[in-house]
Order: sequence, then C-alpha cells, then structure tokens
Amino acid sequence: MIATGAQYNKPSIPNSARSENVGVCYGATNMEAQLCEGEEVIVGGGGNSAGQAAVYLTQVATHVHVAVRSDKLSDTMSRYLIQRIETHPKITIHYQTEITGLEGDVQLERVQWRNKATGKTETRPIRHIFMMTGASPNTAWLEDCMVLDNKGFIMTGHDLQADDRFRSRWSAVRSPMLLETSLAGVFAVGDARSGNVKRVASAVGEGSIAIHLVHREWQRCSGLTRLARRRARLVAILLEAGDIVRVQERHPDLIEAVHESMTTECLDLELFRQAKIVGDDLLFEVDR
Ligand SMILES: Cc1cc2nc3c(=O)[nH]c(=O)nc-3n(C[C@H](O)[C@H](O)[C@H](O)COP(=O)(O)OP(=O)(O)OC[C@H]3O[C@@H](n4cnc5c(N)ncnc54)[C@H](O)[C@@H]3O)c2cc1C
Repeated sequence: MIATGAQYNKPSIPNSARSENVGVCYGATNMEAQLCEGEEVIVGGGGNSAGQAAVYLTQVATHVHVAVRSDKLSDTMSRYLIQRIETHPKITIHYQTEITGLEGDVQLERVQWRNKATGKTETRPIRHIFMMTGASPNTAWLEDCMVLDNKGFIMTGHDLQADDRFRSRWSAVRSPMLLETSLAGVFAVGDARSGNVKRVASAVGEGSIAIHLVHREWQRCSGLTRLARRRARLVAILLEAGDIVRVQERHPDLIEAVHESMTTECLDLELFRQAKIVGDDLLFEVDR
C-alpha cells in the first residue's frame, strides 16, 4: 500500500513556515472557515481550488482578496468559477500580485502584497491566508512502474479503466478494485493518490479500506486449494504451449489462478499424467 503523500507547494514568503497553524492554511474547509468569521482573508493562487476556496469563504468572511500571479485566470481556472469570483461583491481579485510579507508575533496579524506591474505594495490587517497553490506527489521513486496522472498522482480503481496505458499493463483478469493501482495487488491511498481530497480523515479512511481489500484478496487467493493451484499452473502451461484445454470447473478464482500462472515455468508431470483426453479436450477435475 503506497501512502507517500505529497509536498504542498509553498511560495517563498518570509515567515510563512512560522505562521503555519497560526494563520497560514493549505485547505479551506468548514474548520478553517469557522476561524475567520467576520474577518477579511486572502487566498493565494489562480487555480480552481483557489476559486472554490474564495467563493466558499465569502459565506463567513467580510471580504476575500485573491492574489493571482498572472494577468488572467482563463488558463488555470474554469470559466464558471472566474465568472463567479469576478462578479462576487465580497471578492477582489488582485492580478499580477505576489504575497510578499506576513507579520505577527503569536498569530498572523497582517499580510503584505505587491503588484508586479506597478510595484505598489499594500498591507491589510488579515489574520488568515489560504495558500491554494497545489501539491506535488511523492511518487518520483515509482518511475514508470504504474499509471500516474499528468501531475504524477497515482491513478486507482475505476479511473484507470478509461486510461489506454492501463490496458497494456494490467495483469489480472478481474477489474481493479477501489484504490488499487495499475499494478494488481498494489494499492494507493491519501495525498499521493489521484483525486484525493487532501484531508487527514480521508487519508486514514482510504488506508483502512485498502487494508480491508488486501485481506480480502489474500482470503480469495488462499481459498484455492494447493492442488487447484498446481492444476491451474498446468493449465497455464498447456495454454501457453497452444494445447486445447477445457477446464470443467469454471470457478472465477481458478481462472484467475490460471491467468496468474501464465508466465511461470513449471511442469508437473504427475498432474500431466492425471489429465484425461476426451476427443480434442483435456479435462481436469478441479477442486476449489
Ligand atoms: C501545512 C498543512 C496543514 C494541513 N492541515 C490540515 C488540516 O487541518 N486538516 C486536514 O484534514 N488536513 C490537513 N492537511 C492535509 C493532510 O496533512 C494530508 O491530507 C494528510 O496528511 C495526507 O496523509 P498521507 O498519509 O497521504 O500523507 P502524509 O501525511 O504526507 O504522509 C506521507 C509519509 O510518507 C513519507 N514518504 C514520502 N516519500 C516516501 C518514500 N519514498 N518512502 C517512504 N516514505 C515516504 C513521508 O515522509 C511522510 O511521512 C494539511 C497539510 C499541510 C501541508
């Protein structure tokens, strides 16, 4: 199970590390929103997460500033969100703007930003800043061994099936399970997973679901008797050799075991002798 998380992209603002948990937030949920009721806040970033955070925070904040480094949002934010934040009376978008300073002793008290085009700086009494500047998954070590999305997050479950790369890599007969990667039997959870929600509770929840699925997979595998597994290997060898094989018991677990054995090199002569040839068919009696 892969749970290597992600690195949150943190702009180099002096004091930002010191202000983490005392005013600098990397997510805008109900928890954070409660802390800034009746206050002015600022959101840093120009992507959809920044737009969604800004709209969400208008429910509690008196005013929401949005600091965007570029001169437009159309390359990075959905049109419907741009329209919502541009027309919202409680939101001001500051284009070509960088957050340059955080001030405060125990709690963040003031935020300073600078317009890159005019050089003008502004400082406002703001106690909460929301950095919605994305995250980079800790997945470089995986190199090319499983399907990742275009930002490097690990793709899992149903999402994989729409991806062309998945079909050439997937080795099992069944479909991937929830949270299972393109490498059968390997699961990914939390911030490293494509489509994650960047919350502790969901990372922990996904972890417990994945462990449950791992146990279920073990049970399924050990459900086949040793003999059935050996026969499955023999069937696999015959199939690879191009022989016509008919397996009388079409139990899905057995078919899976045959498939898993297709690349193993194993010839069990004793079992080979037990096989009965009826017409062109080689028949096995397989116990589950
Ligand atoms: C500043 C900040 C504040 C946050 N505040 C909240 C909050 O208030 N509420 C909330 O719900 N969420 C919050 N989050 C998000 C939350 O922390 C994450 O969603 C959650 O920790 C994800 O859990 P994870 O196990 O996937 O990854 P992580 O908690 O990041 O754990 C990943 C672990 O894997 C290790 N690792 C990385 N690479 C490798 C490797 N190659 N081999 C072995 N180990 C490796 C890392 O060292 C780390 O220990 C916050 C995040 C940040 C950055």
